[in-house]
Amino acid sequence: MFQPSLTADCGQCAALCCAHHAFDSSEQFAIDKPAGVPCPNLNGRGRCNIHASLAERGFSGCVSYDCLGAGQHVVQGLFGGRSWQHEPALKETMFEAFRIMRSVHENLQLLHAARRLALSDAEAARCAELELAHMPQDGWTLARLREFERGPVSASVRAFLRSLRYKLGGTVRPA
Ligand code: SF4
Repeated sequence: MFQPSLTADCGQCAALCCAHHAFDSSEQFAIDKPAGVPCPNLNGRGRCNIHASLAERGFSGCVSYDCLGAGQHVVQGLFGGRSWQHEPALKETMFEAFRIMRSVHENLQLLHAARRLALSDAEAARCAELELAHMPQDGWTLARLREFERGPVSASVRAFLRSLRYKLGGTVRPA
């Protein structure tokens, strides 16, 4: 069973967050950028030109953003290390996969946090069952991600986490 890392590794990604996400000019972002448009601070090698001074340059939102490992999972796991930057035809599908994979990883992070609570046997079994639903036996494919997005798993995770609120006085804190 492949257990994806929930720790971002930008060196194994292809700047997916820097192109896929939109941001609005604000305290967190110095400029407006539409979704799907590469950030102007990306250089030709797909790296951030202002990485060492993001906060000082008005991009603290980039510092606080965490893809939870979804980026490298998509690039390496689904696309074999290929990049939209070298193959623009991949852009839409890579961004779509990234968007859904981010939800998969976020759910996994929340379930990992829930696992550390004092769960009953039934709750622990349900938590494990839901975790498994985020780790397909043969790995993720774009078709499986689309099916995941259409399906009931995320709603089931939310319902399960809601059922644990009494253990934390209202919230389940991420790891
Ligand atoms: S400023 Fe740098 S880290 Fe932020 S989106 Fe642009 S390229 Fe990415």
